[in-house]
Amino acid sequence: MDAQLAVIGLGSIGSMALWQASRLTDSVVGFEAATPAHGRSAVGGDTRLFRMIYLGRPDYYPIIERSRGLWAELEAETGQDILTTTGGLSIGTANGSYITSLLEATRVTGAEHSVLSREDMAERYPQHNLRPDDCAVYDPHAGVLRTDRAVSAAIAAAQANGATVLQNTPVDSITETEHGVVVASGDRTWTFEKVIVASGGWSRRLMPDHLKAVTETHRIVLTWFIAEDGTQFSPENFPVFSRLYGDRSMYGAPAVDGVTVKASVDGPLDGRGRETPDPDSVPRELTREEVEKVTDIVTEFFPGLTPTIVRSDAFPDLFTEDRHPLLGWLDENSRVYCATGFSGKGFKMATGYGHIAAHEVLGKQTIEGLDFVRPNRFKTR
Ligand SMILES: Cc1cc2nc3c(=O)[nH]c(=O)nc-3n(C[C@H](O)[C@H](O)[C@H](O)COP(=O)(O)OP(=O)(O)OC[C@H]3O[C@@H](n4cnc5c(N)ncnc54)[C@H](O)[C@@H]3O)c2cc1C
Repeated sequence: MDAQLAVIGLGSIGSMALWQASRLTDSVVGFEAATPAHGRSAVGGDTRLFRMIYLGRPDYYPIIERSRGLWAELEAETGQDILTTTGGLSIGTANGSYITSLLEATRVTGAEHSVLSREDMAERYPQHNLRPDDCAVYDPHAGVLRTDRAVSAAIAAAQANGATVLQNTPVDSITETEHGVVVASGDRTWTFEKVIVASGGWSRRLMPDHLKAVTETHRIVLTWFIAEDGTQFSPENFPVFSRLYGDRSMYGAPAVDGVTVKASVDGPLDGRGRETPDPDSVPRELTREEVEKVTDIVTEFFPGLTPTIVRSDAFPDLFTEDRHPLLGWLDENSRVYCATGFSGKGFKMATGYGHIAAHEVLGKQTIEGLDFVRPNRFKTR
C-alpha cells in the first residue's frame, strides 16, 4: 500500500478534499495532470460567485452553510484573502417565477435575506438599469471567491499537514483489486486503500459506462467589460448579481482589479454552457452569436459599462443529466469515491464538497441527507 488515500485531480474540489483529508490522515497523495489551479480547468477566470440564495434544491443549504464556515477556516489557516463578502442581488420581476422561487427557497432554508423594491434598488444600486416591475432579493452573505488563490491555499495547507502532491502526473487508469485500488500514470503504478476521483471535465475518462452515459463536459463562457467609473463597480459598491427575465439572464461580479467587471450570460434557460467534445481543447473564442447576445444584454442592463468585451474565455465543467453532482461511492462495495459532475455551480460549495468527500472516504461523520447526489441514483434506472 503506497498510502491510505489518493485524490485524483487537484482542481476546485480535489484541492479541498486533499486539504480536508490531510486534517484526518497524514497518508494522502494528490495527483494532478497539470499544476494545481491551472487556468484551463474550472478554476480558470479568477473569480466565482458565492451565494447562499439561488435557484436550486434546499438540500444544498447545509452544504453551503458548511462551505461558508470552511472558506473562513481556509483563510485563517493560510492567511489568504479568498472570499470577499459583497452581498448579492438576485434581480427579476416582482411576483414573477424567479423571485417567487427564490423567496420560497429562503422560506424553506431560513436563509437571511431582504427584498429590495425597485425604488430601493435605484437608490442603492444605480448601476443596474431596471425595468418598471423589477425588484431584488438581497443576500447579505454572498460574495466573490478568488479561485486560483483558494486552490493554491488549500494545496499549501494540505502539504503543511503532510499530504504529498504529484503534479504533472496524469492518471491513466484506476483499477480496483481485492486489496486496494491501483492507480497508473505512464509506466508507474501506486496502490491505495481508497481513491477520490475529482477530475472535473475530464472525469468521464475514468468513469464506468453507466456514468459516462449520464454526463457531458460543457464549455462555459466568461466575459468582462470596462466600467466607465471603476468606483461604482468596486466590491464595496457593487454586489455580485444574477438577473433573469424572459429569455435574458446574466450574472457577474464586481471589478476586483478596480476596472474590469465580470458580466456573463447565464443559462438557467439554456442549461448553462454547451457540450464540448474535448476538455483539453475547449474553444476559447466566442462565436459571433455569443458576442452579440452578451453585448446586447450588457447594453441594456448596465449603462455604466462600455459594451465591448475586453476579455473573454471559456472553461470546462462536468454536467450530469439531472444537474446534481456525483458525490459518493461508485457502488456500495467500491473503494472509489466520485467527487465530480458539479454542473456549473460547484465552486461556492467546493470546501463543503471536499469536507464531505474526505470525511466519508475516511469513515467520519459529515453532512447528512445527500441521497440526491449519490452516483448510484443512475445505476438503478
Ligand atoms: C466559466 C465557469 C463559471 C462558473 N461560475 C460559477 C460560479 O459563479 N459559482 C459557482 O459556485 N460555480 C461556478 N462554476 C462551477 C464551478 O466552477 C465548477 O463546478 C467547479 O469548479 C468544478 O470543479 P472540479 O474540481 O470538478 O473541476 P476542476 O476545477 O476543473 O478540476 C479538475 C482537475 O482535475 C485535473 N485532472 C483531470 N484529469 C486528470 C487525471 N486523469 N489525472 C490527474 N488530474 C486530472 C485537471 O487538470 C483539473 O486540475 C463555474 C464554472 C465555469 C466553468
